[in-house]
Amino acid sequence: MDLEKFWENIEKAESIGITGHVNPDGDCIGSCLAMYNYILNKYNKKAELFLETIPAKFRFINGGEDVITDYPDRNTFDVFIAIDSGDLDRIGIAEKYLNAAKHSYCFDHHGTNTGYAQENLIDPGAAAAAELLALLFDEEYIDLNTAKALYLGIVHDTGVFKHSNTTRKTMETAGMLLEKGVISSEIIDKTFYEKTYIQNQVLGRCLMESILLMDGKVIVSYVSAEVQKLYGISTTDMSGIIDQLRITKGVEVAILLKESKKREWFVSMRSNEIVDVSRISVMFGGGGHIRAAGCTMYGSAHDCINSLTKEIEKQLI
Ligand code: 5GP
Ligand code: MN
Repeated sequence: MDLEKFWENIEKAESIGITGHVNPDGDCIGSCLAMYNYILNKYNKKAELFLETIPAKFRFINGGEDVITDYPDRNTFDVFIAIDSGDLDRIGIAEKYLNAAKHSYCFDHHGTNTGYAQENLIDPGAAAAAELLALLFDEEYIDLNTAKALYLGIVHDTGVFKHSNTTRKTMETAGMLLEKGVISSEIIDKTFYEKTYIQNQVLGRCLMESILLMDGKVIVSYVSAEVQKLYGISTTDMSGIIDQLRITKGVEVAILLKESKKREWFVSMRSNEIVDVSRISVMFGGGGHIRAAGCTMYGSAHDCINSLTKEIEKQLI
C-alpha cells in the first residue's frame, strides 16, 4: 500500500467511512475507534464508523457513542476503510460501501486475509490491528483518545499481553501509549476482566459441560441458542470462555461453539503449540491466526465437532 497516497486521500476526502468485522471484538472496536480519533485529531475530520454493534463497556472511548449500527443507503464514500477483517463477508453489510467507494483500503493482521480492498496492508506479525495502526500513525498526532483506543485493541488481542503473539514491538507500542496518558488498569479491568454475574454463570456452565477428546488434547464446549436465550446473552457476551478452556492442562486445542441461530454455529478455536487453527478455519470458510481462529458451521454440534477433530487429528500425527 502506498501510505503517503492513503494519507493524501484522507486529507482530500469529503467523506470517510470506517468499518470492522461482524460480531466485533475489542481489537476490532479499538482499532476502528483509533482510526476515527486519529483522523479527527490530525485532519479535523469526522469519519463515519459502522459496526454491527458496540457493547456498552466500550462506549467510553471517544466516538463510541457515534458508532452507526444501521447501514443506510447513501452516496459513495471518497475513502472507505476496513480494519481487522480477513475477508469481504466479515465486514457484513458494509460491503456495499466498500465496493462503491472511490478509494477502498484494508488494514489487517490476519494471515488468511484475501486482499479484498483496492489497497491492502496486511501484517500477520502484528499482535493486533491496533498495533499495526499505532506504527502507521505519526506519534505526534496520537492524542489521548486515539491512545486509549489503540491500547484497548492491543490488550484484547493479546489477552492482556499473555498470548504468543505478544512481541517486544507490542510492549514498546503499549509503553508509548502509556506515556500518552492511558491508565491501563481502567481499560484492562473495565473492558477485559469485568464480567456480569450472568456471563460468569455461562462461563461456569461451559466449563462444567466441557468434554475432553483425543486423549485430553482437545477440549470442546458449546452454548446452544436456547441456553443463550435462557440467560439473555448473545454471542458477543461470551469472550473469555475460550481462553479459560485453552489453559486446561494437557490441552492443545480448545473449541467453543456458539449457536447463532438454529443449527448455525460461530466456532472459536485456540491452540497452544502445534496445531494451526487458521488452516482448519479456512477449510470451513473462516479464517484467523495460527493460534486463534474461527468460522461458521452448520448442523448439529456433534457433527461440527466431528468435522473439526478430524482435521485436528491430521495435524497432531
Ligand atoms: P474469535 O474466536 O475470537 O471469534 O476469533 C478468533 C480470530 O479468528 C479473530 O482474529 C477473528 O477475527 C478470526 N475469525 C473468527 N471467525 C472468523 C470467520 O468466520 N472468518 C474469518 N476470516 N476470520 C474469523
Ligand atoms: Mn484483531
